[in-house]
Amino acid sequence: MGKPHALLIPYAAQGHVIPMMELMQRLVNHGVKVTFLNTDFTHKLVTDAFSTDENLNDLASFVSLPDGVEAEEDRKDVCKLAEAIFQLMPSKLEELINKLNINEGEKVTCIVADTCMGWAFEVADKMRIRSAAFWTASAAGLALLWSIPKFLEDGIIDNKGILMKKQMVQLSPTMPAINSENFMWARIGDMKTQETAFHFAIKTNEFVKLADCVICNSAYELETSTFTSFPDILPIGPLLASNRVAKQIGHFWKEDSTCLTWLDQHPIGSVIYVAFGSFTVFDSRQFDELAGGLETTNMPFLWVVRPDMFEDMKNDGFDDRVSERGKIVGWAPQQKVLNHPSVGCFVSHCGWNSVLEGVTSGLPFLCWPYFSDQFINQMYISDVWKTGLEFKKMKVVLFQVKKSRIKLNSY
Ligand code: UDP
Repeated sequence: MGKPHALLIPYAAQGHVIPMMELMQRLVNHGVKVTFLNTDFTHKLVTDAFSTDENLNDLASFVSLPDGVEAEEDRKDVCKLAEAIFQLMPSKLEELINKLNINEGEKVTCIVADTCMGWAFEVADKMRIRSAAFWTASAAGLALLWSIPKFLEDGIIDNKGILMKKQMVQLSPTMPAINSENFMWARIGDMKTQETAFHFAIKTNEFVKLADCVICNSAYELETSTFTSFPDILPIGPLLASNRVAKQIGHFWKEDSTCLTWLDQHPIGSVIYVAFGSFTVFDSRQFDELAGGLETTNMPFLWVVRPDMFEDMKNDGFDDRVSERGKIVGWAPQQKVLNHPSVGCFVSHCGWNSVLEGVTSGLPFLCWPYFSDQFINQMYISDVWKTGLEFKKMKVVLFQVKKSRIKLNSY
């Protein structure tokens, strides 16, 4: 029998590709042969952002397939992208696996696919390959999706996922209560998008049943009651860069590492780090509020402003006014930044990767969630772990939340 050979299939978004790459590194370190399948579009982003003096392919084999979307703009519509991928990729995946299987000793022995690429479990089932569903967010988020039939039965939502009752729901007696207004699909765009997201969630639940196991990028210590109540979800996290001094891999933008030397010049725990992940877009009012807030603190800050982050940003001299103590970069080496001793707190949109990275660095959060599961993640931070504050409750207390390090096992 040949070596184990895992085919890894992330969903085509930054917050999904990074943890899958981190899983890839773990598997490679354990001697597993890995083939990493991106869409053509993300493959190009990832390889362009990786520095030329290193070689991604030393880590694993990278392959890509088209995602079925023509215009760049359409990829920002999560549901549209997922649907286009679903239409095109299953048959292409079969062809790819048949090609990879030509070498007798290197046959694909297992598929690990993001739950958002659930159709891959159907392909795995058909081709008799073992498969694992990889959920890149909190276990509570997945438990919430698995509880949809109960919500329908209790009349909390209708069959389009529209909220019928605003109430706190308890997925199990020991789990923290979740506000029904924060159901993930209810926090995505307009009503039509929410309905599409809801039906996508139901389809995902069905697909995931075909997988041999479900793994989750979270830790038992972070979500003890959820993992106890939903034992089919296996914690394998937090998956973080295995080598935090090495170059980041799987990133869609080139990191600006000048911020690390800039951080070196500041006292311990003095800098506010502000970053909203790969997806969040601000309007000018939100920009003004945040910029005004940072200006008022008089504290040094490092702010990640992605090139595509603002719809209509106007520069009223903010950069000049804060140039003495503020640094703005297009994309930071975030895991290194969060581990830098000068950073004292993290203003975050509460994407799950950022949450894991901030928590393991022992940083207090100031939470400004925008989208989907970020509201549940914020609930964990402010109400369960108590390592941060909700934006609206904030008064002048950025540094009053004690630094607290939750002890986690690393895999
Ligand atoms: N990230 C980064 N540099 C930045 C901003 C973000 O490396 O300037 C990384 C961050 O470390 C995290 C990922 O991008 O691993 C964002 O994932 P998250 O789940 O936090 O948010 P999403 O982008 O999915 O909204």
